[in-house]
Amino acid sequence: MTIKPIHLLDWFQIICHIHTFKFLNISLDKLPNIKLLQMENIIILGTGCAGFTAGIYTARANLNPLILEGKQPGGQLTTTSEVENFPGFPEGVDGFSLMDQLRKQATRFGARVENAFIDKVTFNQESKTLYAGEKQFETKAVIIATGAAPRLLGIPGEMEMYGGKGVTTCATCDGAFYRDMEVVVIGGGDSACEEALFLTRFCSKVTLVHRRNELRASQIMAERTLNNEKINVIWDSGVKEILPNEDGKVTAITIENLLTGQQSQISCKGVFIAIGHVPNTKPFDGILPLDQNGYLVPEIGSQVKTEIPGVYVAGDCADHVFRQAITAAGMGCQAAIEAERWLAELK
Ligand code: NAP
Repeated sequence: MTIKPIHLLDWFQIICHIHTFKFLNISLDKLPNIKLLQMENIIILGTGCAGFTAGIYTARANLNPLILEGKQPGGQLTTTSEVENFPGFPEGVDGFSLMDQLRKQATRFGARVENAFIDKVTFNQESKTLYAGEKQFETKAVIIATGAAPRLLGIPGEMEMYGGKGVTTCATCDGAFYRDMEVVVIGGGDSACEEALFLTRFCSKVTLVHRRNELRASQIMAERTLNNEKINVIWDSGVKEILPNEDGKVTAITIENLLTGQQSQISCKGVFIAIGHVPNTKPFDGILPLDQNGYLVPEIGSQVKTEIPGVYVAGDCADHVFRQAITAAGMGCQAAIEAERWLAELK
């Protein structure tokens, strides 16, 4: 890490602060939490595909970026077994390895990665302050790439078999592993319908379990789903638990009819949970525009610019439509280039 020299103006401010403390009769050693913050050029929030791609671009542009890593280092891809649709890997790539490669690529060009979960921000045109509990960061530009977390059911067996043992939240990522097998999809929205329809390409049977007696999905998606011979819909039912076989992999689910209370089991090798996503945008509520589902809304005419100059968004925290590793990486690249241009104009 390179420590920037403190400029004359900064020294002047430090001396003024010391004189103010003396004037107010405050002893400096009684102010242990006052630290001088280094003004960063750019801070990137998140270490998923969007965050690391922004890191690669801004590091190569000599911006000395600082990437802050939150609660899920490497993002959602680290929970996927194999990624077969990321360009450049004809044999596929393990999700964890892909993120590790992106991390190495960003740090190779000088991006710094630090662990800090940002819970509060204050933004204005000149500077942006980010808070991680007691810790503070000061920066000229920010790229928010905090991702989204799939909503989960919170039932027995779900976490135990999540990622590689039959429970997943991404048909596009994992569907092909369930060729000629029976699977279930949970949910009744566009995502659940899309996942169920996608899975009919591989799986011998797809059972959609929904908690009500009508789909929330758009009419066209609902019609396609209900008209597909391979998809069997079970209405008014909740999933009680996911059952493992002797190898600890999914073998069945227990469902309960919510009207009658009657329980039954459905045999399956895969459980695709598609009950929505929760974007990780809480610290920006009231600071930047969010849509009704909590996704960050960029400025009209751009995918990544926001209404605050120097603040950009990238990846799943701002994209509820595509939600792919490659589209997140593309947004990270766009945000980095926009930030680089904006910082150049500041000078
Ligand atoms: P969504 O529209 O919020 O639907 C979530 C579904 O999961 C609902 O059917 C809901 O049931 C069910 N659900 C939620 N919590 C549940 C729980 N604890 N247990 C059981 N079921 C639960 O989410 P989404 O389908 O991910 O879509 C999000 C947004 O992205 C939407 O605006 C959607 O239109 C858009 N999207 C569009 C496309 C497309 O156009 N191709 C594809 C994907 C997503 P209830 O119906 O009873 O509430």
